[in-house]
Amino acid sequence: MSRPIHAEIPLAAFGHNYAVAKRAAPGSRVLAVVKANAYGHGVARVARALPQADGFATLELDGAVRLREQGFAREILLLEGFFEAAELPILAHNRIATSVHCEEQLRMLEASPPPAPVDCYLKINTGMNRLGFMPEGAKAALERLQACGAARSITLMTHFATADGPEGVHEAMNRFESATRGVSLPRSLANSAAILAHPRTHAETVRLGIALYGATPFADRTAESLGLAPAMTLRSRLIAVQEIGPGEHVGYGATFFAPQAMRIGVVACGYADGYPRHAPNGTPVLVDGVRVVTAGRVSMDMITVDLTPVPAARIGSPVVLWGEGLPIDEVAAHAGTVGYELMCALAPRVPVVEVA
Ligand SMILES: *Cc1c(COP(=O)(O)O)cnc(C)c1O
Repeated sequence: MSRPIHAEIPLAAFGHNYAVAKRAAPGSRVLAVVKANAYGHGVARVARALPQADGFATLELDGAVRLREQGFAREILLLEGFFEAAELPILAHNRIATSVHCEEQLRMLEASPPPAPVDCYLKINTGMNRLGFMPEGAKAALERLQACGAARSITLMTHFATADGPEGVHEAMNRFESATRGVSLPRSLANSAAILAHPRTHAETVRLGIALYGATPFADRTAESLGLAPAMTLRSRLIAVQEIGPGEHVGYGATFFAPQAMRIGVVACGYADGYPRHAPNGTPVLVDGVRVVTAGRVSMDMITVDLTPVPAARIGSPVVLWGEGLPIDEVAAHAGTVGYELMCALAPRVPVVEVA
């Protein structure tokens, strides 16, 4: 038998979560965001599971071209756009849409126009301060994009910094609306948080990331309460059980001391599998469907858990690190991060098992 860890991916979860977004934003096209290998789930797998998607959005040109070659006929958008003029003919040839977020990209479009016009998303910086034209410069950028003849269509785009938090989208929407007043073009503004919490942002096209994968974009609303289904369950098994006496310690650095005699379960899953090394003692794990907690530092290939709540556990007992029965968001919160980071970090050495 091989090492007993695998990531189980229920293909039906993608359609389920996509439908949740469609119901939340019924008048909008929903692009499925598949950057970072579809947040660790596999781009080709998600594309196969979501033939109904209105489009896909990603970052990598070769991944976008592959989607096209695999026969996906609807929109494919590059969220960071192109990085050099040599990519423009590839965009045109494969009908790949690009964000246009900076002066340098505009200049490339003017100086080395693609052989055929491409669909462009003109990105406006409404407060994130990463990508996009400043609101004051947005109309001038738009005029240049229209004048250069390289754009087959133009969509106005922004990305919210605080759609998931108490600040919301009010300030960013004010900036966007004043930057684009009087311009009648389609818009794409919303990420998962805005799709689920801010209907006024929906417009023509939304961009669905984390919620497609069944995790919550919010700190204070669970995925379950949003009707989302987990799209990844990280499973393993106990590969050893230690019976230790009071005062014994567990793992590197001796960060856990047994207060009394106890059984420690050793799980085949460590940080080289994508489990967060920062997860402290007390992070939840399911053993035989029972909630236990980690005891001792996460190591490269193993974690250790306190088996007190599950006395029948033995070598071979099934373990869930996150997913079905244990929300990834809860594990992430213990480790001081978000579900996004855990799913993206799933290591290539972990086999993936698709289930229907
Ligand atoms: C990653 C990304 C998204 C998706 O964000 P989620 O919070 O995962 O829904 C949307 N838009 C842009 C520009 C992105 O980079």
